[in-house]
Amino acid sequence: MILLVEDDSRIAAFLAKGLQAEGYAVTRAEDARTALGIVDASGEDLDLALLDLGLPDRDGLEVLRLWRARRPGLPVIILTARDDVASKVAGLDAGATDYVTKPFSFDELLARVRAVLRTREQTVSTELEVGDLRLDLLSKVAFRADRRIELAHREWALLELFMRHPNQVLSRTQILNRVWEYDFDPGSNVVDVYVSYLRRKLNRDGLAPLIHTVRGAGYRLLPVPGQGN
Ligand code: CA
Repeated sequence: MILLVEDDSRIAAFLAKGLQAEGYAVTRAEDARTALGIVDASGEDLDLALLDLGLPDRDGLEVLRLWRARRPGLPVIILTARDDVASKVAGLDAGATDYVTKPFSFDELLARVRAVLRTREQTVSTELEVGDLRLDLLSKVAFRADRRIELAHREWALLELFMRHPNQVLSRTQILNRVWEYDFDPGSNVVDVYVSYLRRKLNRDGLAPLIHTVRGAGYRLLPVPGQGN
């Protein structure tokens, strides 16, 4: 699916119609607030965003920076009337995949959309899978038994660490060093707190526990239910 962020309804209608005629599913937003909401709520089905910069409520560059923080894997093509070099540099530096200026040729835009989607298909296999857990490392979405799990930043980092070391006991110190880096108080119980958050999310709907406490040693992820204590 392509997200089209454009407040000029004439251009938006023209683009949506053209993209749909090429077989793309299109969803539209006319302001930054709606666009941010759509991306936050979307999963792997969102392939690309076309982003106008002159939006009524917020500058498109700000939207782009927020996406880069929250959804680093989402390709974004800026579509704007700002055609000076400084704007192009600012857009690409803010993380745009490509930059197209208005007025644009629809055929050229289509070719750029195809190019971006091609690249995405080649890199989209960056997934981590352990048992019935799956992490999409590009779009930062986690699944258990094909159900999406919403994870906060540290929960994600913690789960990724466990999934990169399945069956292995990880001590609290190892976890602190890897997930919190320098940003922690060594005496804190933050690891235990986050493990309990993560367990609650992973064990929803009565699914078997995967993260097991190893007394006096730490925690480990046992991907096969019933294998643990
Ligand atoms: Ca505009």
